[in-house]
Amino acid sequence: MKITIERTKTPKAKPDQSNLGFGNYFTDHMFLMNYDEGKGWNNPRIVPYGPIALDPAAMCLHYGQEVFEGMKAYHGVDGKCRLFRPEANMARLNLSNERLCIPKFDEAFAVQAIETLVKEDADWIPTEDGTSLYIRPYIFATEPHVGVHPAKQLIFAVILSPVGAYYPEGLNPVKIYVEQNYVRAVKGGMGYTKTGGNYAAGLKAQEEAQAQGYSQVLWLDGVERKYIEEVGTMNVFFVLEDEVVTPVLQGSILDGITRKSCVALLQSWGVKVTERLVALEELIEAAQAGRLKEAFGSGTAAVISPIGELRCGDKPLIINGGEIGPLSRRLYDELTGIQWGKLADPFGWTKVID
Ligand SMILES: *Cc1c(COP(=O)(O)O)cnc(C)c1O
Repeated sequence: MKITIERTKTPKAKPDQSNLGFGNYFTDHMFLMNYDEGKGWNNPRIVPYGPIALDPAAMCLHYGQEVFEGMKAYHGVDGKCRLFRPEANMARLNLSNERLCIPKFDEAFAVQAIETLVKEDADWIPTEDGTSLYIRPYIFATEPHVGVHPAKQLIFAVILSPVGAYYPEGLNPVKIYVEQNYVRAVKGGMGYTKTGGNYAAGLKAQEEAQAQGYSQVLWLDGVERKYIEEVGTMNVFFVLEDEVVTPVLQGSILDGITRKSCVALLQSWGVKVTERLVALEELIEAAQAGRLKEAFGSGTAAVISPIGELRCGDKPLIINGGEIGPLSRRLYDELTGIQWGKLADPFGWTKVID
């Protein structure tokens, strides 16, 4: 399929790079592609960024048939633009599609579409330290119909947003609230997919945690409320003495690409990493015995987010004196070093766009 390009006649002014924040600005163009039953995915095109007309009966608005991804393009220290493991994001989007009865797309073609769009808006990739161009691919049901069935018409869209350094003042540990009332997902549900419904399910807990001064919630398993799952938009790791543990993937949490990359890096450094069930009680005991050395979240937006405090009921667990630990720091430096082309990329994770 050939991607047609219609360029904007009214390019926007670029935002101030020192004050981008996250998800506030969007570039001049977007990618769109339609799905129609009988025709398959068709009409891939890059068009000026702007509103998309939807029928009021569009099924995404009623039944939440929607999936998305989050990835970034980085302006390297060598002036080259890089993507980080884009094929893994597209494979995961198709995995989400499979769960939500959305027709699969050609992953190599989608990577090519993203590259073409990023190249088109390359002058939007911010260059200041720690900044990047966030890429949001998403698919939603547009068929106008009231009544539940998998939609026969959908749109695949990609939009781009220049984003600031996640930690403008350096890598600051976050405070996380352990959620013991609400649940996000259960085995057999959609927890392993990136679909809007999972985030809608989490809003209430997040709002309550934020009102108490916590930045995000840590979810426990939805059945026993006993095992650690993940944070709002991050996977989690715990350093117990000289072993790193992270919750095993069992269908209710996301298979993070940053998580995968952390596991590979730790293993390459000879650090023991175990993917297994991690009970909250085990963490509390380890913390009390002084064996919980570090905790951190992993995700595309923040890369590595050290956890300085975990709030469980009325017990605050202070981790590593509320400071960033050495392993969290090393992972952050290594991953961002690879992403911005400062360090060698022995795993072949980056894809230079030229
Ligand atoms: C996106 C996301 C992650 C992190 O995945 P990455 O591929 O590392 O960005 C983890 N958990 C949830 C719920 C997410 O939405």
